[in-house]
Amino acid sequence: MRKLMVVGNWKMNLTSSTASELAVQIRDGSTTNTNTVEVVFCPPAPYLKLVSGLIEGTSIGLGGQDVSGKGPGAFTGETAAEMLLDVGCKWTIIGHSERRTYHNETDSVINQKIKRAIQLGLNVFLCVGEKKEERQNNQTEALLEMQLNGAFTDLETSALERIVIAYEPVWAIGTGLVATNEQAEAAHAYIRSWISTRFGASVAGDMRILYGGSVKADNALGLLSQPNVDGALVGGASLDAKSFNSIIQSAADSSSTK
Ligand code: PEP
Repeated sequence: MRKLMVVGNWKMNLTSSTASELAVQIRDGSTTNTNTVEVVFCPPAPYLKLVSGLIEGTSIGLGGQDVSGKGPGAFTGETAAEMLLDVGCKWTIIGHSERRTYHNETDSVINQKIKRAIQLGLNVFLCVGEKKEERQNNQTEALLEMQLNGAFTDLETSALERIVIAYEPVWAIGTGLVATNEQAEAAHAYIRSWISTRFGASVAGDMRILYGGSVKADNALGLLSQPNVDGALVGGASLDAKSFNSIIQSAADSSSTK
C-alpha cells in the first residue's frame, strides 16, 4: 500500500518568527499516526535550517521549494542540491507551475534539475498540471503526457523510487477552484497509466501521486479518498496549523478506506 503524504508548500511567505510558530504548532498539534501519513514542510530557503532544528527527531520531513540543476558555483540566487541536503532536506519540489510561469522553466530544465537532485540523493516532488484553456480544450492528457515525457527523459527506472508526482492543475492553484474528486481521480489515473506504460506496472503501482490546488480542510477527505490520490501538496492552507493538521487527519481517515 502506498503511504499517504501531506506536503506544505509555504511559498514566499512568513518571517523567521512566524515560520517557527507554524512549524511548532503543526509539530505539536497533529495527533495523526505518522505510520499512516508522511508529512513534509517546504519553507522558504532562508528558513530551512531553522525549521530543520524544530522538527529534528520527529518524522516530519523537510524540502526545498526548488533546486538548481547545476553544481555549486557562480549561479547567483540559486540553491544547489548539496545545500538543501546540508540543511537537513530530504526533498525538493521541482517544476512548480509558479517556477514554470514566472521563471520560464522548461521541461528540459526540469529534467536537468530532477537528474541532479536524484544523483545527489534528494527525493523529488515533480509538479505537473494543465492550464485552464488546456482543460477547456480537452488537452489535459496531452499536456500531462508532454510534461511527463520531458521530465522523465533519460531517467533510469531506479530513479523513480525517489520521485513523487504532484498533479496540480494550474487553474486550481491559489484560486479556490478545486478540481472535483472525479477530475482529480481521472488525471491521477492517467498519470499512473503513463508511468505503467513507460516503466512497468509495478513501478506505477508504487508511485505516489499527490493532488495540489486549493486543498482545504473541508475538501481534503473527498479528494484523498480517491483510489489514485495518494496525498496532497498544500499551499495556502499549509500556512494555518489548524487547517493543515485537519488535512493530515483527513489523509489518515482516507487511508483506512484504501
Ligand atoms: C501549491 O502552490 O502547490 C498549491 C497547491 O497552492 P494552493 O493550495 O494554495 O492552491
